[in-house]
Amino acid sequence: MSSPEPQRWAVVGGGALGATLALRLARLGHRVAVFEAGDVLGGLAAPWHLDEATVGGITWDRHYHVTLLSDTRTQDMYAAAGVTDDEIRWVETKTGYYGTDHVLRSVSNAFEFLKLPGLSPLAKVRLAATILIGSRIRNGHRMERLTAERWLRRWSGSAAFETFWKPLLRAKLGDAYAQASAAFIWATIQRLYAARRTGLKKEMFGYVSGGYSRVFAAFADTLATEGVDVRLSTAVREITRVGDEFRVSCPTGDQSFDKVVVTTNAALAARLCPDLLAAERQRLQRVAYLGIVCVSLVLERPLSPYYLTYITEPATPFTAVVEMTAFIDPAAEVAGKTLVYLPKYADATDPLFQADDAEVIAAFLPFLEKMYPAFTPSQVTTARVSKVAQVFAVPTLGYSDDAPAIGTSVPGLYLAGSAHLPFSTLNVNDTLSLVEQVLALAVHSTD
Ligand SMILES: Cc1cc2nc3c(=O)[nH]c(=O)nc-3n(C[C@H](O)[C@H](O)[C@H](O)COP(=O)(O)OP(=O)(O)OC[C@H]3O[C@@H](n4cnc5c(N)ncnc54)[C@H](O)[C@@H]3O)c2cc1C
Repeated sequence: MSSPEPQRWAVVGGGALGATLALRLARLGHRVAVFEAGDVLGGLAAPWHLDEATVGGITWDRHYHVTLLSDTRTQDMYAAAGVTDDEIRWVETKTGYYGTDHVLRSVSNAFEFLKLPGLSPLAKVRLAATILIGSRIRNGHRMERLTAERWLRRWSGSAAFETFWKPLLRAKLGDAYAQASAAFIWATIQRLYAARRTGLKKEMFGYVSGGYSRVFAAFADTLATEGVDVRLSTAVREITRVGDEFRVSCPTGDQSFDKVVVTTNAALAARLCPDLLAAERQRLQRVAYLGIVCVSLVLERPLSPYYLTYITEPATPFTAVVEMTAFIDPAAEVAGKTLVYLPKYADATDPLFQADDAEVIAAFLPFLEKMYPAFTPSQVTTARVSKVAQVFAVPTLGYSDDAPAIGTSVPGLYLAGSAHLPFSTLNVNDTLSLVEQVLALAVHSTD
């Protein structure tokens, strides 16, 4: 269904959400411009060029990404962008676990997880029961009343919390896990179960050959074909209502639109939109964000067979080891090299955000040497650091009661981003659920 009159739309932000929204709006007959501050589309999923100094430098995502078989919206996005099914590879991966005893073990299936030291037979039964209980809960709202830690300690006990749940929480939330409500663990269990419900006995992870670089290159072509005006390296400074129109101001000048959707983080949206009510702006500014400092390393040889390695050793400065080339095909994708990410999820006050790249790398590498005795820093051919201060809105206690709304007090102005997802684990598939919500409010309703 398209609205009767084609309208002029501005989409602020050209990440997965902004690009998908722009395409949908264009296909509904609207005239759409995308303003993207970066020099490529993609946002958190944008690529970067690694190993540039060597012949045949490689390109892969700034941050690691997997797609689950149950991520149907993500797969629809690939298709809409112009990526064909035969470009998607589905792979089984292995998972590692580095404990306080400094031993690296495989936890690639439930049996191996349950063999971890430190778990009594009773703790194992309680752990399995916790997952079952979480999977049966249909409404996440009641999980927002207590912290994830409290809920997990109650059902699984302290030993299982320390051994199993804490590394899982820290891998995604860093030290902010302590503030997260049980809604986060509920969303995690629901995502796990959705993957299981795809009918396959084994869990498969998918990626597009060429990474998100390929996805957003296809997106750029398709958006151009649909007549979408994509403005890269164009950071919007202000969005104001002038009469019946919006004036979108950026360094290259001002332009008028009928409707605007802002897909940046909440605090920035509050700054960009001065016409919002003070109460709306305060609500946006109250959202507590988690950021990420993520080191990418190109190595001469593999570290381990594990795609993801959880870490319980508290002194480790990163929250997990993600060995991308234990998942993607190294020969086909990254010229036979090993690509490893060392993420640290932390809030913007963490000193790592002020450190320069060399300092971050110098702080991280000694711990990698400790974890993998065969690794030496001389095996690193390239090291890059990505820092993003606002990545994920922490689902704090009662978050959905105070979460910002997509529709605003300014008719025709819409906001969407991770702050609008109270029950999510930060993934492309959940993010894309906002597309339908924005369209329902902005195009298919009569507001
Ligand atoms: C380390 C890491 C690992 C991840 N792993 C996975 C995974 O395995 N699987 C998965 O599905 N998801 C994963 N994700 C999540 C996924 O990347 C995000 O859910 C998704 O990319 C969010 O898209 P978005 O468009 O909402 O936001 P963003 O990608 O943040 O897009 C917002 C855009 O707005 C732009 N912008 C900001 N300010 C302005 C301005 N003033 N003017 C114009 N443009 C502006 C930004 O440059 C950016 O491009 C991961 C994320 C991270 C950080």
